[in-house]
Amino acid sequence: MALFGKPKYTIVRLKKKEIPEGLWTKCESCSESLYNKTLEDNLKVCPKCNYHFVLGAYERIAITLDKNSFTEHDRDMLSADPLDFKGPKTYKDKLAADQRETGLKEAVICGEGAIGGKPTVIAVTDSRFIMGSMGSVVGEKISRAIENATKKKLPLIIISGSGGGARMYEGLFSLMQMAKTCAALAHHNRAKLPFISILTNPTMAGVMASFAGVGDITIAEPHALIGFTGPRVIEQTIRQKLPPGFQRSEFMLEHGFVDMIVHRKNMKETLALLLDYVSPNS
Ligand SMILES: [Zn+2]
Repeated sequence: MALFGKPKYTIVRLKKKEIPEGLWTKCESCSESLYNKTLEDNLKVCPKCNYHFVLGAYERIAITLDKNSFTEHDRDMLSADPLDFKGPKTYKDKLAADQRETGLKEAVICGEGAIGGKPTVIAVTDSRFIMGSMGSVVGEKISRAIENATKKKLPLIIISGSGGGARMYEGLFSLMQMAKTCAALAHHNRAKLPFISILTNPTMAGVMASFAGVGDITIAEPHALIGFTGPRVIEQTIRQKLPPGFQRSEFMLEHGFVDMIVHRKNMKETLALLLDYVSPNS
């Protein structure tokens, strides 16, 4: 019987994708497919909707400071695990995984450099490393950077990107960093030296409630999420709908928390102007 004869197969060979992986990035805001080279050339800002993508700490330093002016401090400081923390992932494993993924040793890079020829101390947190959260090492490195600025009578710039706030893997030790960084800032302030705090998406919780929130001048990138507790938790707690744009840079500017919103492409020249204004003779 031919009815159940040998079926005829057609072998379809799928052509290998012509576009190599990693060449395109989808915009997280407008879903536009962006050619990576275009995105890089545009300082990782979506050319269509102006969405500011996350930047790594070294990328940020490269686009902010004068070329070859950066000297890094405390590069090799590593986190201990004072609580021997064990969750779904141990703290040690989490540290090792994020070190591998980001090539960083910790969530902050600190040092000295110049912008428009004006010397400055700079610290940049990286939201890719345990959400840019502040543990003992982040707190210690930032405090040392501030103390270095005070000692050398230099302005201070801290660029924050932290969705994590205080790092709960270290419990109380991470909370202590909030007071420590602010105490160091108080000395810097008493010496009448300027501190520019730059808030990028996201800057939240214990980071926002400590050093990031007390700048003499507070600058935000457009549409950055800035706040203490996330909007969902607040809505659940107060049982009210939050206003549109709540906790975004534009909302914060309107309500006086942020002094200016600066597009990434204008950040360097804005900082150069500010540094020139606050320390014209250096
Ligand atoms: Zn976009």
